[in-house]
Amino acid sequence: MTLDLATLLAATMAAATAQALPIVFVALRARLHRGLALWGLGLVVNALSYPAFGLRAFGWTEVSILATNLLSGLTLVLHTLAIASFQRHRAQPVRSALVWLPLAVNMVVVLLFMRDDHWRNILVASIQSVMAGMLLYQAWGPALVERRLTGRRVLIAGCAGLVLTLVVRTAYMVWASDWDAVYNVPGQVQGLTYFAVMAVLLVNSMGFVLMQMEFALEQQHALATHDSLTGLYNRSALQDLLPALGARARRQGEPLAFLMLDIDHFKRVNDTYGHLAGDAVLREVALRIRQRLRQADVVARYGGEEFLAVLPATDQAGALRLAEHVRKAIESPPVRLANAMVPITLSVGVHAGIPDDSPRALDAQIGLSDEALYAAKNAGRNRVEWR
Ligand code: GH3
Ligand code: MG
Ligand code: MG
Repeated sequence: MTLDLATLLAATMAAATAQALPIVFVALRARLHRGLALWGLGLVVNALSYPAFGLRAFGWTEVSILATNLLSGLTLVLHTLAIASFQRHRAQPVRSALVWLPLAVNMVVVLLFMRDDHWRNILVASIQSVMAGMLLYQAWGPALVERRLTGRRVLIAGCAGLVLTLVVRTAYMVWASDWDAVYNVPGQVQGLTYFAVMAVLLVNSMGFVLMQMEFALEQQHALATHDSLTGLYNRSALQDLLPALGARARRQGEPLAFLMLDIDHFKRVNDTYGHLAGDAVLREVALRIRQRLRQADVVARYGGEEFLAVLPATDQAGALRLAEHVRKAIESPPVRLANAMVPITLSVGVHAGIPDDSPRALDAQIGLSDEALYAAKNAGRNRVEWR
């Protein structure tokens, strides 16, 4: 099968535009996205590079060479910036200048070697390999927080494919004996590169869009299951986790421990230091509780200044030890605020046992830890009681 160049370019441009427009459209409408607009812009620029290439057919060779280089280089730069924007890197002057540097060098090389196809092609291919390497480096992202995202793996695979394609092309250009085969004969090196780059761009876009989607879903899930002030689970998330914890305890015949923790006289903290200070105290108390517990323990903000910790495979004695440990950690040192040291104490109610298989078994256990908390309050606060 053979295709003439014009048809090929038109088809490719149509495909590239079809890839770019939906992304641009979504990016413009969506309020919360990370770098999607930059990515879409990169795709638009890429789509424009095909008609720019086609200018050669009208004898505008030099304009075409300049424009094609500018547009394809710009695509890589915009995509690198889009990934940086996703990762929320501050746009540091040095870093962003570095992103633009290869493109600037590329354009200078194109101008200097305009009449020397051989060297221009080798040099441009090398510089483009470097730019693709930068894209890969950005996707690999030493500072990237969202490491687990599957979309990121797709993106990395695509970027690696791009680097490989461009490096192989460069190497081929350097060592080719039959120079004509390199870029004058359609279907050989240039043709293969052309299709490989198109495929890789598609993979990259897929990866980047998937990253956006996964990230948004993760954020939404985190918001729905966590308390925004303390970062602990919220009460409804705990309710969702409880059945599995109970079933596992029953299956393994291990006791499940419940610690109901409530800050003493918290109203006074609010009244004395203000509501914002109260919030800061809540955050600090939550942090200290979390730090004293194990990874497998589940801690939730159960009420205003009331926390519930569920500890798998923990008997009454272990739970009491841990509760005492937490109580002491809250008691001292006092919580440091901007202009005050606030003494805080905590009362804890403890219950531990293997839940039976009645539907309300866990609620009953929580009720017992709550009873124990009442007892601790009545016995003078800043203490641990059990039921
Ligand atoms: P007790 O020792 O009996 O537990 O006394 P207390 O004052 O801690 O108990 P109470 O439950 O009567 O009061 C809880 C207070 O916690 C009332 C409410 O204003 C405050 N509170 C609840 N949620 C928040 C919050 O998110 N931020 C702040 N700053 N205060 C909160
Ligand atoms: Mg209280
Ligand atoms: Mg309370």
